[in-house]
Amino acid sequence: MLETNKYDISDVFYKRYFEQNSLNRMAMEMLKFMWFKEGKFLNPMKRNEILKQYIEDEKKDFFENNKLNIPQIEFCITTKCTLKCKDCCALIPQLDKIKHSEMSFEMFKIQLDKILDAVDSIRHLVILGGEPLINPELPQMLEYAANQEKIFFTQLITNGTMLPSKNLLETINKYNNKIYVYMSNYSENPELESILKQDKIKDLLKEYSIKLQKPENWPWVEEYGLRKCAYDEDITKQKFLVCNRTKCNQVLNGRLDICSKATAGREMNLFEDDSIDILNSKNLRQDLIDFYQKEYMNACKYCVLTDIKVQPALQEK
Ligand code: SF4
Ligand code: SF4
Repeated sequence: MLETNKYDISDVFYKRYFEQNSLNRMAMEMLKFMWFKEGKFLNPMKRNEILKQYIEDEKKDFFENNKLNIPQIEFCITTKCTLKCKDCCALIPQLDKIKHSEMSFEMFKIQLDKILDAVDSIRHLVILGGEPLINPELPQMLEYAANQEKIFFTQLITNGTMLPSKNLLETINKYNNKIYVYMSNYSENPELESILKQDKIKDLLKEYSIKLQKPENWPWVEEYGLRKCAYDEDITKQKFLVCNRTKCNQVLNGRLDICSKATAGREMNLFEDDSIDILNSKNLRQDLIDFYQKEYMNACKYCVLTDIKVQPALQEK
């Protein structure tokens, strides 16, 4: 247990819930101030101090005010993608070959409503795929999300291969202080030169005053997917504690998984399903609290993590 003043909080619960909520709160508030002068200025030089205060706020919210805040939740709205990246960390090329899923607006709304009913806020909602621009109901989904008071900020992630439709641009423009775009940067890969439309997309977003987040330079690592036999429990727990994807909790087909790789494995029946059943849960709020306290999920027992750097978005042959 960590020394957490008067509360008993396990390491994993602290990291996944209290720290992650505080980090996301800080990141989202900084973006809102930088882009729209909304809220208050947070001095980046005082990052550690602010983070400490936010963690204390989060503890108070949870233990004293009975509030449950979701740091981040991702909705995979299609498993179809315009690219077939060999090292896709969501295993999209393998998954879509076996089982294609496309979320309807109706299903998006039902799942999001269930989650919103169970919690007090979602600090960061992420809409992704595959390539989410493939889903024709994306504008309706974004509009619905932008109208939810409990959602602080929504991020749309695109791989930069598809031009956004007029309808999509107008929708994001209408809610441009609630929705922003993140475009992955695969320009380091020369084989994608003829496919990427990044400059044209940037021009369109600018024309519609849509905020585009600067891409982070995360190194790509070789993706080994999920192996057949399980790692032992101690190794799995250690992996889980250091894995930076435990925050990427993803919704697909009525279930909430720890990350997109876990979603792919569950959809392909590669291990026993221990995801949250959003649609049939009798007490989703409690299921979510339990989820944040888990020391690992079944997918993690089979997950191979590496740090072998590779070129971004190398395509399957
Ligand atoms: S990494 Fe992104 S662009 Fe590449 S296959 Fe996966 S989802 Fe598609
Ligand atoms: S399955 Fe578990 S260990 Fe693997 S990437 Fe996802 S959260 Fe991390």
